Amino acid sequence: MTVYRAAWVLPIDQPPIRDAMIEVEDGVIRSAPAPAAFRQDRLVRDLGNVAILPGLVNAHTHLELSWLRGRVPPANRFTDWVKTLVAIRRGTEQSATPEITAPIQEAIREVRESGTVAVGDTTNSLAAVEPMKTAGLTGVVFHELLGFKERDGATIEASHDKRAAAARHGIRISLAPHAPYSTSVELFRAIREAVNASDCPIMSVHLGESPEEVELLETGSGPWRGMLEAIGVWRDDWPLPGCGPVQFLERHGVIDARTLVVHGVQFDDVALERLRVLGATLVTCPRSNQWVGVGYPPIERFYRSGVAVAVGTDSLASVDDLNLFSELKTMRWLAPGVRARQLLESATVVGARALGLDDELGSITPGKTAALIAVRLPDALDDVEEYLVSGINPTQVTWVN
Ligand SMILES: [Zn+2]
Repeated sequence: MTVYRAAWVLPIDQPPIRDAMIEVEDGVIRSAPAPAAFRQDRLVRDLGNVAILPGLVNAHTHLELSWLRGRVPPANRFTDWVKTLVAIRRGTEQSATPEITAPIQEAIREVRESGTVAVGDTTNSLAAVEPMKTAGLTGVVFHELLGFKERDGATIEASHDKRAAAARHGIRISLAPHAPYSTSVELFRAIREAVNASDCPIMSVHLGESPEEVELLETGSGPWRGMLEAIGVWRDDWPLPGCGPVQFLERHGVIDARTLVVHGVQFDDVALERLRVLGATLVTCPRSNQWVGVGYPPIERFYRSGVAVAVGTDSLASVDDLNLFSELKTMRWLAPGVRARQLLESATVVGARALGLDDELGSITPGKTAALIAVRLPDALDDVEEYLVSGINPTQVTWVN
């Protein structure tokens, strides 16, 4: 048994405790954190002026894109950013060469150093699974499929062997349909069915990211229609949804309580209310949204709606770093009316719950894994929760055990 003492402990499932202790045995939290005054008889490792909190959960990354860091410039329009990304990526999607894997390893090291314990990683190549395992980064890996012309679930069958091979590394693998402008209704449905029948029934989907996506769904025209035609995948029999993205996927039974809906920049209050009722988790990636030209998301409206909000960074193709504390800083700046505690919950327990990891991670609760970080604090501190959403540098972060 090891007992850790710190200036602050943030259990997340209860308010912060000043000068508190945590008991850890065999990597597991043994009892609820409590004020140190009650436990002066114990042999204690005093960590000093730090805040201990659970390791963070980055609910949306694409680690395989780490080699694109600094290569895809910010754009004013989403389809322009996508065009640049596709042009640079052409021919590399399926490869696991050193040019791809070395940046993945470096990115994972940065993820760990900035206090993240688990990720929801969306991938076409599954190239990050082995590096994740090696580095001790856990989470759920979503094999992303797309095909606007797919009329059945053949793509799912074709991905089976790759997923089975990746699963041998002990990381949970599921599926993700890419987005409504790249995935047919038939494929959406087939993926949902396959995911429901699997032992990891969690799904992730990009939704409501750009105005161009909404335009396509509502009117069947606009820049996405042009792009789909230009690459020869437009379908004249595509059933025009004539509605917004959430309504579209709900109509086809794609969204449920085990769905991570990523972005939602374009969602109105009706869409947010539907997500709340369905019990889905909205994953916000504000820095990426700004980078790819869709503008910042309405963070305050997200929280006001009552929907579960988790946090992601998205990939290094659209953000400077994978430090989730940087994302929280941007959220605090965008949403001064949201309590710091809610933002911290989003980056811990809400993300863990969305990924089905909340039995082990997301809060300092007896029985959960002691995946704990200590964040060095300044001498003068008004509000520890506010401080933790003000931008934390990886040099301030250490893993407790
Ligand atoms: Zn993404």
